Amino acid sequence: MTFPVIGMVGGGQLARMTHEAGIPLGIRFKLLSDTPQDSAAQVVRDVVVGDYRDLDTLRDFARGCDVITFDHEHVPTEHLRALEAEGIPVRPGPDALVHAQDKGVMRARLSEIGIPCPRHRIVADPADVARFAREGAAREGAAREEEGRPVVLKTVRGGYDGKGVWVVSSEAEAAEPFRAGVPVLAEEKVDYVRELAANVVRSPHGQAVAYPVVESIQVDGVCDTVIAPAPGLSPELSAHAQEMALTIARELGVIGHLAVELFETRDGRVLVNELAMRPHNSGHWTQDGAVTSQFANHLRAVLDLPLGDPRPRAPWTVMANVLGGDYPDMYQGYLHCMARDPRLKIHMYGKDVKPGRKVGHVNTYGDDLADVRERAAHAAAYLRGTITE
Ligand code: ADP
Repeated sequence: MTFPVIGMVGGGQLARMTHEAGIPLGIRFKLLSDTPQDSAAQVVRDVVVGDYRDLDTLRDFARGCDVITFDHEHVPTEHLRALEAEGIPVRPGPDALVHAQDKGVMRARLSEIGIPCPRHRIVADPADVARFAREGAAREGAAREEEGRPVVLKTVRGGYDGKGVWVVSSEAEAAEPFRAGVPVLAEEKVDYVRELAANVVRSPHGQAVAYPVVESIQVDGVCDTVIAPAPGLSPELSAHAQEMALTIARELGVIGHLAVELFETRDGRVLVNELAMRPHNSGHWTQDGAVTSQFANHLRAVLDLPLGDPRPRAPWTVMANVLGGDYPDMYQGYLHCMARDPRLKIHMYGKDVKPGRKVGHVNTYGDDLADVRERAAHAAAYLRGTITE
């Protein structure tokens, strides 16, 4: 056995950072990327530029790879089944990955295995959305009018960063999601106190590790800050969330990293929002804040190597995303940020700076949460150019 070749489908920053984690292990990397300029394509030597929606492209790409894995969930499920049938290991496999691709399938399966989710069902048209809202009011015995009761609508496939998600309060508002011609899932609008993520990694041997549950703070539907561990989370709820994520990984047969996005409710429960079966933004803190990063553990899992220790290295680690601002020269901010916080770790993705686009993130850590948060937020804002001192 010589060093294995990982076939990574997708050239985004997750692929770039997974590649980085493989370098010390001597693991070889082959990338299927949309363009030669993609984040990972800039740093991987063996790049195939092609369309992951085309089965022949995938087949050609898979030749010479020991295992196929992904930095996104958009490869058609039937193509993955075809590759598997031809003897190519796909990790996570299509039977697991479909739950990260299709929110309808995910909701149905999680309910079946007893995982708490928001009330939900597939809806046929705007009138059906109004019925769904009424059913909710009836269940709670509430005397509320059907109009005005908000419902969350999601296209079952293709959404990301809040795209493909609508909050509607009337039948008239509910027309938009149906225009795409994709099945639409309705969910009760959860009155949550905050969003959490339980990240776990599972290997083909069935070994699994759980990272500390984190708090994820979104701004305009995009992840802004992640705090590890989630401040003030009770040990019981934390253990419960980790157990849920491990159960999902086992029951769905997930191989690799699984992020379970959760809502913490006012009455002290956690409900699953969604699943991602790849390294995830809520796990970026692990690069500098955990003994083994999510990227290193994802690689170990897809290669069926023993998994690494997921424990934190510091009492608090905070990750802040760096979004593009109006100011294209991020490097100019390094001098100030590095001088101000020697514990700061900057991770840039090599992407063109466009307003609102995730172009990098920073991690920093320490003993005092308020101080760590301030340092992370300061660096992200300074790099973006929204503050100048
Ligand atoms: P995406 O595919 O864009 O990640 P999500 O399902 O994570 O879509 O939804 C995006 C955001 O919308 C969530 O982070 C949350 O803030 C909000 N949201 C989604 N579902 C619900 C819900 N059932 N109740 C309340 N808010 C929700």
